[in-house]
Amino acid sequence: MRSKLNLANLPTKIIKAEKLSNELGRNIYIKRDDQTGSEISGNKIRKLEYSLKEAAERGATTIITTGGIQSNHCRATTAAATILGLKVVLLLRISESPKTEGNFFLNKIFGAEIRYCTPDEYKISRNEIMMSIAQEKEEMGEICYVIPEGASNGIGSLGYFNAMEEIIQQEREMGIRFDTVVVAVGSGGTYSGLSLANKYYNLKKRVIGFAVCDTSEYFIERIDTINKEAIPLTGKKIEISKEEIEINDKYTGIGYALSTPEELEFIKKIAVSEAVILDPVYTAKAMYGLYNEIKSDNLKSSDNILFIHTGGLFGLFPKQDQFSF
Ligand SMILES: *Cc1c(COP(=O)(O)O)cnc(C)c1O
Repeated sequence: MRSKLNLANLPTKIIKAEKLSNELGRNIYIKRDDQTGSEISGNKIRKLEYSLKEAAERGATTIITTGGIQSNHCRATTAAATILGLKVVLLLRISESPKTEGNFFLNKIFGAEIRYCTPDEYKISRNEIMMSIAQEKEEMGEICYVIPEGASNGIGSLGYFNAMEEIIQQEREMGIRFDTVVVAVGSGGTYSGLSLANKYYNLKKRVIGFAVCDTSEYFIERIDTINKEAIPLTGKKIEISKEEIEINDKYTGIGYALSTPEELEFIKKIAVSEAVILDPVYTAKAMYGLYNEIKSDNLKSSDNILFIHTGGLFGLFPKQDQFSF
């Protein structure tokens, strides 16, 4: 296994969602990966502990990465790179002139260098644009390290391989076995690492990813690609097929980063019952999916469920006007 930096507050707590468990008649636990830090909070820092270690080993001076305007990944990368004394260039996707709020606001505070691209450019050529930024910076003497969207590549996946090892340890301490692990899926790296460790340690957990955009087919391909890239970096022999990747795409709602009134009501419901704030882009959709799947009796054999709260709090504030009280 590759080595990592220690940037996140680990291990993250596992709490029981008592009222939700009572309502649904299942034991629902929440792993607080939203509490991996404050500036670096969320799931991305686990991946970045591996990617930025590699960057440091390669002598990088500038980190280049990309995401949406409210990208949690870009904010966590900026904060982590700042800790390490590295410069950052962010390539952010925008469709109109962005308001200085949420994660984008924090990136501005950090003084990150920000470049913009259109949704089409993002979709088709974000990696090429990042390569050309890298070339430009290298001509100025920088050594660049490019991290793809969400740090969802082989090296980033190791962060959640490691998180699953942490979960195994916590199961021992708590005297519980989680039969099901639930996580939001946006670029696939988190799911990849969890599924690889599940397979390697023969945990036989059902790992369910709730897509927040795109389709199951899309993510199965994407995660399969990440898995293939990650396995050699684990230094372990792991065989995993596409059939073992379980993605539910029924709860993407009205699209990436867009919220329905039901999803926003659900954020309020969980806040009131558990004192846990879900984010509108990822965790609200995933937990809303879990809730509805249990209600419609589609998860009959899941009794001890671990929901991974992957963070995203800063992305809630730009949505405040959409809530009704
Ligand atoms: C990025 C992100 C996810 C999705 O993780 P992926 O590894 O990209 O699939 C989930 N929740 C939050 C809050 C995120 O920022």
